[in-house]
Order: sequence, then C-alpha cells, then structure tokens
Amino acid sequence: MFNFLKQKLKSALNKFKRDVEETAEEKEEKIKAEKKEKPEEIKKETEKKEIKETKEEKPEQEKETEEKEIKEKPKETKKEIKKEKKGFISRVKEAITTTTISEKQFDKLFWDLELAMLESNVAVSVIEKIKENLKSELVDQRIKKSEIQKIIEETLKKSLLEILSFEKFDLFNKIKKKKPFIICFFGTNGSGKTTTIAKIAKTLKDKGITSVIAASDTFRAAALEQIEEHAKKIGVKLIKHDYGADAAAVSYDAIQYAKAHGIDVVLIDTAGRSHSNINLMDELNKIIRVTKPDLNIFVGDSLTGNDIVEQVQKYDSVVGINAIILTKADVDEKGGSILSSGYVTKKPIIFLGTGQDYDNLEEFNPEKLLEKIGV
Ligand code: GDP
Ligand code: GDP
Repeated sequence: MFNFLKQKLKSALNKFKRDVEETAEEKEEKIKAEKKEKPEEIKKETEKKEIKETKEEKPEQEKETEEKEIKEKPKETKKEIKKEKKGFISRVKEAITTTTISEKQFDKLFWDLELAMLESNVAVSVIEKIKENLKSELVDQRIKKSEIQKIIEETLKKSLLEILSFEKFDLFNKIKKKKPFIICFFGTNGSGKTTTIAKIAKTLKDKGITSVIAASDTFRAAALEQIEEHAKKIGVKLIKHDYGADAAAVSYDAIQYAKAHGIDVVLIDTAGRSHSNINLMDELNKIIRVTKPDLNIFVGDSLTGNDIVEQVQKYDSVVGINAIILTKADVDEKGGSILSSGYVTKKPIIFLGTGQDYDNLEEFNPEKLLEKIGV
C-alpha cells in the first residue's frame, strides 16, 4: 500500500532537506568570507604578519630577549586577544546557526518533491497547496539550521492532514435520523461499487441496522447474479427485476419493500457508466427523481489516478455527490487519487476499500494514511 509514493516522497524529501542545508552552508561560507574581508580582520592579519617579519629580521640575541618579554607580557593582553576572538565567534554564530532561503532557491529545491507527487498522480492543486505551505514556512524566514529538517517534515505533515481533513461525516449517525434512509451508489464499471455495497450491508448488519439492496444495475446480466450472491451470503433482502428492466422502477420497489417491512436502509446499486457518456448519465436523473435519495455516494477505484477528480466532478454535476468511497486502497501504490479526490472536489472521503472481503472497509483516517505514506 502506497509504497511507490512512500519511496518517492522519502528520497525527494531527503534531497530537498539536503539541498536546503547545503544552500544554508553556502550562505554561511559567504558570510564568513565577507567577515574576513572586514577592515578589522585585515588589520589583525597585517599585525600578525608584521610581528612575524620583524622577528625574522632580528639577530638571535635580540630575539631571545624579545621572546622573553612577550612571555612576560601582562596577562591582560592575552585576555584581550581571547576576548576579541570570542566576540568574533559570537558575531558569526548567528550566521552559522540560522539561514534564509530565497523564493527562487525554494522553487528549485521543491522541484524533486513536486516530481515525486506528479508521478504518484497527485493533482496539481494539491501539490500547489503543499508548496505554498512549505514556502511560507521556509522562504525569507530566519530559520535555525538545526531545525530545517523538522520544519520541512512538520509542514508537509500539516499540509497533508489539512488536505485529507473533511467535515465530520458520521454515516451511521445520519442513517438513524430517517427511515428508510436511502443511499444511491454511483461510479464507473469495475470501480468496486457492488463489492462496496455488500461491505456496507454487512457493516450495517453487524451494527444491528437492517437494509435492503436494490439491484438497479440492470445493464449487465452478470451484475444481477453478482449482487444476488452477495445478498445471499450476507443475509439481506435483494429487490431485482429482470435484466434490462427500468432501473428507477427497481429502486422504487425496494423503497416500497423497506417501508412495508420497517427496514432501516435502502442501498441502491446503479449501473456503472463512464462519466463521459452523456445519455447514460442523464438516465441517472430518473433514478434520483424517483428515489429522492438521502445520500449519493461516489465509489471510485483508487488506481484510477488523476482522472478520478474529473469523474467525481462529472457525477456531482449530474446527481450531486455527498461523499466518496475509494476502493482498492490495499493495492494502490501511488495514493494520488486518495490525496486529490476529496481536496479538489470538496467532498469527504468516508471509507477506503482495503480488500475483497466484506470486512475490508475502513473508515477514512488521515493520520493512519499518513503513517502509511511515511510522513
Ligand atoms: P463494480 O463493477 O463497480 O460493481 O465493481 P465490483 O464490485 O464488481 O468490483 C470489481 C473488482 O474489484 C472485483 O474483482 C472486486 O473483488 C474488486 N474489488 C472491489 N473492491 C476492492 C478492494 O477494496 N480491494 C481489492 N483489492 N479489490 C477490490
Ligand atoms: P503495506 O505493508 O504498506 O502494503 O500495508 P498494507 O497494505 O498491508 O496495509 C495494512 C492494513 O492497514 C490495510 O489492510 C488496512 O487495513 C490498514 N490501512 C492502511 N492504510 C489505511 C488507511 O488509510 N485507513 C485505514 N482505516 N486503514 C488503513
């Protein structure tokens, strides 16, 4: 899970940190060099040189006496020299321990990190957000060199948490507020919609909440069999018509069944369709009109990459999406869909599908996700 992104981020982050530190060192050298050129330093240098030279020119005897004199020189002078040295050190100290990074340097340094995220299908707006946050913490700020690494790591973590934090969305609490509570599931073929509905039905059952599934994916004969098998295994009622029947009519029947039998939740499985197929997308409107769902959930395959953002947006414009579930997180090495789809569309990611079993549905937890990414 997320190994590609983890490795890429790690090496880019290390390079970024190294580069920032090297930039700081270069500056430090420059400051030191500038200090050396300062008049008092030059003066000191010349003085030393002069003493050396006079020493060499003097006859042995004289030299000896002078050496004796120097040795006997009051301690004060020695102290003074020492004091001056200390003063110089403390003056340079600030330059050594703190540094500043210009915007131009930052852009250059950020490039590898940017590339790592682009390769992991992270949306450009997400990358920009991270860049802006890091920039405001690092550029033109007096920062302690020893803290550069910590600042970069903490800012990246803070940015990612911000990107992955959504308004609180407690599905099970919402469900309690209306009976029957109607949930419609949307997504492209193969995104894991049917499996996810089965997982939700099982989770609800485990919590003592009853549900009925509407087999409104009447497009594929195999889809009917598939959902039927799931319903049997879990032990929930399935309402189905024949292959090719009106999807809205199936949903309507399921709602009537729920009302008649005091069932808590209706789970509607719609036929998968490409978001670019306008006719099929329009058909969804009929289901919405007939069923008036309390919740529209987009189910997306996290392996889709960047395209998922467009999918959610398109579905949102047609049916109005309230929340996102991303499947196959267990086999997703890049994590780009997860990092981007919620932030870009402003829709909360509520669950991650983490395997093919009914129990492989986990509430979305940003902290846990960041741990996986190694941030
Ligand atoms: P649908 O066409 O959207 O209804 O998709 P399905 O529910 O039929 O799922 C398509 C394939 O993805 C099936 O083989 C599922 O077992 C698999 N799948 C669904 N969710 C997950 C998941 O979270 N992890 C993994 N590894 N596979 C999944
Ligand atoms: P890997 O060794 O890095 O490939 O980790 P796995 O893919 O085996 O992940 C271990 C398990 O941690 C998964 O099956 C999930 O159950 C859980 N997990 C990983 N990431 C998340 C996350 O973001 N949210 C939640 N709720 N669970 C997660």
